[in-house]
Amino acid sequence: MAPEPDPFEPAAQAGVHRIAVPTPFAVGRVNVYLIEDDPLTLVDAGPNSGTSFDELQQGVKALGHELEEIEQVILTHQHIDHLGLVGLVAERSGADVAAIDVAVPFIERFSEEAEADDDFARELMLRHGIPADTVSALVSVSSAFRAWGARADVTRVLHDGDTLALHDRSLQVFHRPGHSPTDTVFLDVERRMLIAADHLLPNISSNPLITRPRDGSTGRAKALVTYLESLERTREMDVDLVLPGHGDPITDHRSLIDERFALHRRRAEKLAGLIADRPRSAYDLAQSLWGNIAVTRAFLTLSEVLGHTDILLDEGRVREVEHEGVARFEAVA
Ligand SMILES: [Zn+2]
Repeated sequence: MAPEPDPFEPAAQAGVHRIAVPTPFAVGRVNVYLIEDDPLTLVDAGPNSGTSFDELQQGVKALGHELEEIEQVILTHQHIDHLGLVGLVAERSGADVAAIDVAVPFIERFSEEAEADDDFARELMLRHGIPADTVSALVSVSSAFRAWGARADVTRVLHDGDTLALHDRSLQVFHRPGHSPTDTVFLDVERRMLIAADHLLPNISSNPLITRPRDGSTGRAKALVTYLESLERTREMDVDLVLPGHGDPITDHRSLIDERFALHRRRAEKLAGLIADRPRSAYDLAQSLWGNIAVTRAFLTLSEVLGHTDILLDEGRVREVEHEGVARFEAVA
């Protein structure tokens, strides 16, 4: 029997090599990409742990380079499975660190920003009916996980619409918020190739996590609504190959995006049905959908529910009312 073809081979032919770096998270390994060009470029770096660093270093070596030779690190978004080692790689190699403008404060002030995010998440969970003991358990897990992140200095600030010129290729830079507020994708028009990281993943829908608004406003950022708008723009791109942050490359991004649209539509309709029954908190809705939820998944499932109630709020089909300090969603008659 012929061996399975390597799904990353077409990218490798174009000088973009995947290195799968381990993470302590449920998502499994993270895809880091080494672009053999001038400057020698790394896209993301993996989480901040000794094991991840060793594997990254070996992965770079296996491709015939040394970590110290890396001249530029490009960051796709603020999540710690991608960001954690950026600072260390830059320190060892002297590489430039390139990231989109909106990500800069988060990357440079990682601890303070991550802590503020935890405070925001705590308030949000309490407001939406998650029991206080679950909330404090989850906040401790989250601050423990913070050790896998680390700050870095951004030496090259990118903007939506910029072009990153390497010797043999140009990468167009596009801001695609939703999965996180800082998601950035890199388009190689000539090779019809998109480095998309977690903006579009093959096996799981990219949980748009509710995150703290950066503009000082108190309203909840509508992460899923924003994410679906971002996907709409990516759907229009003419590409043959999408390189994700986890799992294998995507060769038909339009059908995958259409599947995601259908999934979110079905879920919003299911929630509309539950809310039509009686007013419910987001926690109540999450339990109706998934039963008893593991502590570690409480924030993910809350984000998932709020993403969909945001769609219904925007459509004028539900409203959010406060009842004894907890927000409830009720149907608009
Ligand atoms: Zn990720």
